[in-house]
Amino acid sequence: MDSTTIGLLLTLACPLRCRHCYLSSGPERTEEFEHDSLEAVIRTIASTGRFSTICFSGGEPFYRKELLSSAIHLATSHRLNSAVVTSGFWAGTPESALHTLKSLPPVTELHLSTDTFHQEYIPPEYVVNAIKAARELNIWAVTLGITTLQPLEEAAMKRFFSDYLDDRYIFSQALIPLGRGAHQLREEELTMGFMETPCDDLRMQAITPSLDILACCGPVLSLPVGHPLRAGNLKNENLVDVLNRINDDPILNLMKLCGPWKAARILEHTEAAPSPGSRFIKGCACDLCLTLLGDDRYLKILRVLMTGLLGKEIEEITSLRKKIENFGTGR
Ligand code: SF4
Ligand code: SF4
Repeated sequence: MDSTTIGLLLTLACPLRCRHCYLSSGPERTEEFEHDSLEAVIRTIASTGRFSTICFSGGEPFYRKELLSSAIHLATSHRLNSAVVTSGFWAGTPESALHTLKSLPPVTELHLSTDTFHQEYIPPEYVVNAIKAARELNIWAVTLGITTLQPLEEAAMKRFFSDYLDDRYIFSQALIPLGRGAHQLREEELTMGFMETPCDDLRMQAITPSLDILACCGPVLSLPVGHPLRAGNLKNENLVDVLNRINDDPILNLMKLCGPWKAARILEHTEAAPSPGSRFIKGCACDLCLTLLGDDRYLKILRVLMTGLLGKEIEEITSLRKKIENFGTGR
C-alpha cells in the first residue's frame, strides 16, 4: 500500500462558499456521515491494518464540530492518528483558535487552506492564529495549501506566511474547473501546458458520506459510478478488495507512476489523440486527467495498452504484496 493515510470526507457542508470550490460546498449542503456509519467505517479502516492516519476533510470538518470530535475520538480508540483539513474559519482570535483546538480530542496533523478565494471570507490572520495554536498544542504536522494559477499571487502568499511556516510546508495547487470553479477561470488561463509529473494524490484514497471509495483525493466525486477513479462502495464491497483493485488497475498505475501527461503522449501515438484544439488548465493535472479518463474511447485504449505493458510487473507486485500480508501467518 502506498500511503498509510486514508481520507474521509466527513461533510460536504461548509460555512463558506468559495468561488473556486470544486465540490460546491456551502452551508446548504446536507451530505455527511451518520454516526453509525462513521463508526463502522473507522472500524473497517482500522481492521485492514494498512493505515496509521485518517485525514478528515470536507466541506469543512470544523463546521460539524461534534461529528469531527466523534470521528477523532473513534480514530484514537482504534490507535489511528487524525489529520484535519480546514480553512481556519474558527480561528478569529488567538484565544478562539486555541480554545477550539483544545476542545477536540488530540489532532496530529492540521492542514490549512488559504488563497484569494478563501480570503474573500477568511483573513490570513485567522490562518496565522490557527498555525500558532497548533504549534502551542504540539500538533506535529501543520501545512498550508494555496490554490492559485498566478505565480505572483503564490509568491506573495508564501512571503506572507514565511514568518509562521517553513516554505517546505506550504504547497500550491492549481485551480480545478469543476463545481463553482467551473466559472472562475479566465480565457488566458487555459493552455495546452501539461504538468509533467506523476499524480501523488493517487497514493491516498478517500471515502465519502455515501460510502463511495475514491481512488484519489482529487475532484472525482462527480464521475459516474464504475469509473476507475470512483472505485467502489463500502455498502456492497470489502474495503481491502477495492484498495487492491485500485492498486492493480493499469490505468491508475500509469497516472501514479508517470502522470496524466504521459497518458496524453501515449494517446497521441494512437488514432484517439486528444484533438489539437483541446485545451487544459496549465499546471492542473486533474483537468487533463479527467478529460482523458472521462472519455470511454481513451479509457479503452489506455487499458489495452497498459495491461500489455504493465501486466507482468503488476502481477509480480500483487504476489509480493500477498507474501508480505501473509508473512508470519503460516499461509
Ligand atoms: S473550498 Fe473549502 S472552505 Fe471553500 S467552500 Fe469549498 S470546502 Fe469550503
Ligand atoms: S490527476 Fe487524476 S488521479 Fe490524480 S488527483 Fe487528479 S483526478 Fe485524481
